[in-house]
Amino acid sequence: MRCMIIVSCGGCKLMRIRPKWLFLVNLNRNVFLIFFYNDKRLEIVEDFSYLGILFNYNGIISKAKAKLVEQARRAMFSIIQKSRKLNLTISMQLHLSDTKIVPILLYGSEAWGVENLKILEQFHLKFCKFILNLKPSTPNCMVYGELGMLPITLQAKSRLLCYWSKLLNTKDNKICKILYKTILHLHNSNIHTSPWISFVKCNLDELGLSEYFINQKVTNLRHFKSLVKTRLQDHFVQNWNNSVDNSHKCLVYRMYKKVHCFEKYLDILPHNLAKTLCKFRTMNHSLPTDKGRHYNIERCERKCTLCDKHSIGDEFHYLFECDFFSASRKKSVPKYYFNHPSSFKLDDLMNCKIKSKLIKLALFCKTILSKLK
Ligand SMILES: [Zn+2]
Repeated sequence: MRCMIIVSCGGCKLMRIRPKWLFLVNLNRNVFLIFFYNDKRLEIVEDFSYLGILFNYNGIISKAKAKLVEQARRAMFSIIQKSRKLNLTISMQLHLSDTKIVPILLYGSEAWGVENLKILEQFHLKFCKFILNLKPSTPNCMVYGELGMLPITLQAKSRLLCYWSKLLNTKDNKICKILYKTILHLHNSNIHTSPWISFVKCNLDELGLSEYFINQKVTNLRHFKSLVKTRLQDHFVQNWNNSVDNSHKCLVYRMYKKVHCFEKYLDILPHNLAKTLCKFRTMNHSLPTDKGRHYNIERCERKCTLCDKHSIGDEFHYLFECDFFSASRKKSVPKYYFNHPSSFKLDDLMNCKIKSKLIKLALFCKTILSKLK
């Protein structure tokens, strides 16, 4: 029989969670206790897996999160392998991630979602950058922008708040409701500060839904769920717009990326060309504007060295102006775009949905990227 001892302060308690497993809680730091069950001495372990969550003796959930990431990593490799074999579209791979990887990462997050979720966020972004073949240094706002994706932390918050609403509607004699009411009472009386309750209150306040917490009542669960989801999404998109508008890395990106949505070219184009165009759009290149950043050269000095125009070597210059690529440009881009080019025309070209036009554009980007390696 294995058990876990959680050391805290106070007395000593024995909890029977399931007939098979026992959780023993030693509440006195200074006394070493030996536990017996049916005359058998119980083994003391540092951590214990219960219902898929790894509980640690110190109550810290970081080991559990690391374990979930490890399990999700196995699912990720399997999805990547199968996606390559079956030549699945990017949107299909994202769908598989949402249905197979995210549920693993967020398993039980209704209880521990108040913790720092950076490790999960990083893993999820790593997967997205991997399927798009992007550098790890690619700005996150560009990844979220190209995939029209929401951060995993938002889903964790939504799950936790929905669980809270369900808890309110649970029968009073259920143990989870009794515990919730007890913790809420202790929290409101300033006897014990509950991070879980503080998290619920704080997030409802941020979403403009304070009245639900004040009244401790959610009558329509479905309406509450959709309200939470919409508000969280609205908040994120607002922050995403701010990031794109204010990031110095997004100077050109914001000319053609104005709406947070999945970019259709990722599915329209063959994989290799979709990845090339994605790299060009998201600064995964060695254009002077990006290269100069590594050498701390002022942006206005990051000039194109392939022509005599002394222009800044950015995406706009190479797509529409640079004389070095004149011949390729004439073959790949309709004259309308590079004849009196403008940010409006760049936006129009980059958001084109016609496959033949997109293929030519991606091939032109490929030519530019291979020259500016
Ligand atoms: Zn040039």
